[in-house]
Amino acid sequence: MQHFLVLGGGISGVEAAIKLRKKGYQVTLISNRDYLFVYPISIWIPVKGISFDNSKIDLRKLQKKHGFELLIDSVQKIDAEQKIVTTKNGEYTYDYLFIALGMGKVSSNGLENTLSICGNPEQAVSIGEELDKLVGQGKGKIAVGFGGNPKDAKGSAVRGGPAFELLFNISTYLRKKGVLDNFELNFFAPMAEPGKKMGKKALNSLGKFFKHYKINQYVGKKIIEFNKGEVLFENNEKLESDLIVYISGGDGHPVIKASGLPLSEAGFIRTLPTCQVEGFPEIYAIGDSADIIGPPWAAKQGHMAEIMADVAAYNAHQQIIGSGKTKSYVDKVSIICIMDSGDGAALISRTTKKESMIMLPIVGHWLKKTWGFYYKNSKLNRIPRIPGM
Ligand SMILES: Cc1cc2nc3c(=O)[nH]c(=O)nc-3n(C[C@H](O)[C@H](O)[C@H](O)COP(=O)(O)OP(=O)(O)OC[C@H]3O[C@@H](n4cnc5c(N)ncnc54)[C@H](O)[C@@H]3O)c2cc1C
Repeated sequence: MQHFLVLGGGISGVEAAIKLRKKGYQVTLISNRDYLFVYPISIWIPVKGISFDNSKIDLRKLQKKHGFELLIDSVQKIDAEQKIVTTKNGEYTYDYLFIALGMGKVSSNGLENTLSICGNPEQAVSIGEELDKLVGQGKGKIAVGFGGNPKDAKGSAVRGGPAFELLFNISTYLRKKGVLDNFELNFFAPMAEPGKKMGKKALNSLGKFFKHYKINQYVGKKIIEFNKGEVLFENNEKLESDLIVYISGGDGHPVIKASGLPLSEAGFIRTLPTCQVEGFPEIYAIGDSADIIGPPWAAKQGHMAEIMADVAAYNAHQQIIGSGKTKSYVDKVSIICIMDSGDGAALISRTTKKESMIMLPIVGHWLKKTWGFYYKNSKLNRIPRIPGM
């Protein structure tokens, strides 16, 4: 029986473990958290639209349902030549390795003066606490922004969507509390056209969103550092803020950067379209850890993480049975995003053939809520899975 080691218990790692178990393989999943954090719905934690507990799935419950072995441990080293993975508490060998560790983040001066909605999950709760302190004071200045990674020429590791969603949701939250007019909401980003990846239609509409949700924009300004209570841009320009939420550009995961595997300049694992790591046919890299192959606007997203997991599990199985068949994820690269604002949403999609943006009123918000319900419960086999989702 071939043994698969899956590193990472996020969207891609769990999907791969489930698919490999369905094919009957022995699977061990190693995760440093005992839960899968469903990042796409975590944007509602700060505005109390969802609790922290409801934004996660207990990995032990997933283990029971799908029968993989689970180790809650931190991966420290991958030795691809010797086929050994070292964790804080042990060493593990494998026949096939799936790397699904997500990504690291670009460091900036003064990051400790910011909170992030895309990093350590608990920070989503801290953002909510800081927000409520300001609501209690009846006024405040809030800045939410994101950055890129200069080494990531593709720009695939820019995570802008959650910044927009968080700001729109904060605006809706403050409006419902009756204090929006006493708040200053600011968006900042160093690039001239943040959100460009979503396509022209979405980019053109962002301005209308900002106006509707009473958000000022500070874009195209290089960020020098974050100080307590201010964002410092080039030319000594300052943005005062009682609460700064900053999403750093994505960077290679530190364990992966030290692994000796082939990497992009930014530290993402270079693979073939089959998700096999270049030069290592028994190692697959999936989700945010992989250097995505595709059009210039390709982005690291949850649905791509699931597609890659599915493609990789299929290919590994075909490799084992020696069928010679393979699947590629590259023709499936797309952007699909329900950009939520708490009182509605925009359904954004981009493929190589077309791009679209559909404005949805409150039904859009509930569409994303329904997706969250479906995602969690279908993984636990409580409701049937829709093929292809
Ligand atoms: C706030 C937010 C909102 C988002 N919204 C959307 C959206 O609306 N639509 C969409 O498609 N995508 C969205 N995304 C992107 C999506 O969540 C990611 O692309 C997806 O989570 C990637 O899955 P992954 O498995 O590759 O990485 P992750 O989900 O990050 O999982 C990585 C896993 O590895 C584990 N890990 C890390 N280091 C170690 C270690 N050393 N040892 C052991 N385990 C380790 C982590 O605990 C984690 O469980 C959003 C992301 C964020 C942050």
